[in-house]
Amino acid sequence: MTHFIVIGAGQAGASLVAQLRKQGFEGEITLIGSEPVVPYQRPPLSKAYLLGEMEMERLFLRPESFYADNNITLKLGQEVRNIDPEAKTVTLADEVLHYDQLALTTGSTPRRIPAAIGGDLDGVYVLRDLADVDAMAPVVTDGARTLIVGGGYIGLEAAAVCAKRGVAVTLVEMADRILQRVAAPETSDYFRTLHSNHGVNIREGIGLERLEGVDGAVKRAVLSDGSTVEVDFVIVGVGIAPATGLAESAGLTLDNGIKADARGRTSDPAIWAAGDCASFPYRNARIRLESVPNAIDQAEVAARNMLGADETYVAKPWFWSDQYDVKLQIAGLNTGYDNVVTRAGNDGTMSFWYYAGDQLVAVDAMNDPRAYMVAKRLIEAGRTADKTLVANPDADLKPLLRA
Ligand code: FAD
Repeated sequence: MTHFIVIGAGQAGASLVAQLRKQGFEGEITLIGSEPVVPYQRPPLSKAYLLGEMEMERLFLRPESFYADNNITLKLGQEVRNIDPEAKTVTLADEVLHYDQLALTTGSTPRRIPAAIGGDLDGVYVLRDLADVDAMAPVVTDGARTLIVGGGYIGLEAAAVCAKRGVAVTLVEMADRILQRVAAPETSDYFRTLHSNHGVNIREGIGLERLEGVDGAVKRAVLSDGSTVEVDFVIVGVGIAPATGLAESAGLTLDNGIKADARGRTSDPAIWAAGDCASFPYRNARIRLESVPNAIDQAEVAARNMLGADETYVAKPWFWSDQYDVKLQIAGLNTGYDNVVTRAGNDGTMSFWYYAGDQLVAVDAMNDPRAYMVAKRLIEAGRTADKTLVANPDADLKPLLRA
């Protein structure tokens, strides 16, 4: 019987196998994951779950019974060690499996602080897997002190949760401003103010020099300006790297991740890739997106193409972040923007509209689902929005969609 194997039982892997069955594939499906838990969603890990407001079962993308009911063999807590593209086999700790087609949905791995500067001390956490959060949650308590390294979305979300739990939070960002890599100065300013209002001490343009410990547990952080912060624990949110090790040793072409074509196929015609680990063509560039919508959509297209659909993946980038009572929604990619229009509502809503010249390319909307929705539809249609109208909070945005 035809056998499809999917390596990586996360967001993309779970979407891919479900889509194969939905399309009527009747062959054998094996989904292999190194984590000992059924595929789950990661976004709540740095939000409601870390805050203790969400049960673990609610993280699961589908109940465990879904896989048995759909005749999908789940191999959890098992790591694939090797792929042999010639023999079409994958090697696990104690078995070798043959595939007809293979999909890599291996996600990404968090960057860590080197052991040489204290990254291996107890009490230093990254925030990627359920196990990371379960290890960290008991120390996120009222009166504790933490240093968060990195002012991207993960670091800021962790800061919000810690502040809400009564932890004294210092956040250091090596770049000139938080969110520098992903957002305009307007968005950085907005979130700096929000966090300052909740007592978070944000220090920009400052890096971590080293962590010091007592009896193997972290106690102090020395920063690049020579100052020190006394800490009970440290959260590291300094970005991720696509998990390409298996692909690389199998001889697949890499380019900012596993290089996939517009159909999700890698340099080996029997191997596909989707999600955080895969780069793909987008407009005139090659990009990699680290988001749930991308993982789902790309995996579903790859699944259909594994069954012969010959479908092109057209990414529609969107993302969200929750911090305190602010819901940030992002549509589009702001690469290449050269001007930003602010729309500040009287009701506390706020949105920043990114333009390249007169072309709308992205929006960051804070507690403003209408601005997000209108901008998203315009961007996806390749249309733009009149700047004067956007800047006027009393002007209705809906007519933009009809224009
Ligand atoms: P993953 O979900 O990471 O799954 C990959 C799986 O492959 C992992 O379980 C890994 O253990 C497994 N694996 C790797 N190598 C092997 C191997 N050799 N053998 C077996 N298994 C292997 N995105 C948003 O859109 N919005 C958000 O608000 C948001 N918040 C986030 C918050 C946190 C804390 C994190 C960590 C991520 C967040 N993201 C968010 C990003 C989003 O979760 C990821 O983009 C998404 O999970 C990517 O899916 P994936 O399937 O590619 O990778």
